[in-house]
Amino acid sequence: MPDQKKADILGCRIDLLNITETMERLKCLIESGTTEQVITLNAEIAYTARKDRQLQAIINSASLVTPDGIGIVWAGRLMGYKISDRITGIDLVYRISEKAVSRGWTIYLLGASPGLADKAAQNLSSLYPGLQIAGSEHGYHKEEDMAAVINGINLARPDILLVALGAPRQEYWIYKHKAKLDVPVCIGVGGSFDVIAGEKKRAPDFFIKLNLEWLYRLFKEPARIKRQVVLPLFVLQVVKSKYRSIK
Ligand code: UDP
Repeated sequence: MPDQKKADILGCRIDLLNITETMERLKCLIESGTTEQVITLNAEIAYTARKDRQLQAIINSASLVTPDGIGIVWAGRLMGYKISDRITGIDLVYRISEKAVSRGWTIYLLGASPGLADKAAQNLSSLYPGLQIAGSEHGYHKEEDMAAVINGINLARPDILLVALGAPRQEYWIYKHKAKLDVPVCIGVGGSFDVIAGEKKRAPDFFIKLNLEWLYRLFKEPARIKRQVVLPLFVLQVVKSKYRSIK
């Protein structure tokens, strides 16, 4: 009988929490007083982690891993886990911003092209009046400037750092700098600032409800095909591992 609170998909641990439980867990992590990494795991990262042991170790050492993407949800269900919600980076950004107003959490946005983190911060402030933005910074700094970037984040003392450098770059970045970051919760949120800033459009609800967001992104950004070919390979690996487990 699989653990009903955690899934293991191709060696990656995923927390089986619905969105309410996820928000509750985030609250505990914020209050923990340490620096915790949160990952929204999609099929592409899970597939990469099969061959990239360091990435796998980062995922398995994170304090919270949510199922991001229909590939993960589908794979989890095939393996016999109860996955109720798909929890993406952008969903978390909106949920956190909403909760941050009543709880007094402050957020810092790091990532995306110059200007977009600032614009995303402004748009979040308009959507959630009272939201306290601790700061924002683009995601194209040279390695030698990283100490100053981290210093800026620490001086702003956010409760939550949203890191939008794309996956898995953001997962490596958070893991590498965790010890120097004086922030309770650091979350990788992929390309969400581009969408929140209005630079890119998220798929219409129709696509999201039918779990076809990946198809919409493929229409909009055909170059993503190179990344999305991983999806059928991921599915094949999951089917193989399911078959091995019942043999
Ligand atoms: N990005 C960045 N620094 C980099 C490379 C990428 O800030 O060195 C940003 C990029 O501008 C975009 C995001 O990371 O805003 C990646 O978006 P994508 O949709 O590819 O990420 P995914 O959601 O697929 O992880």
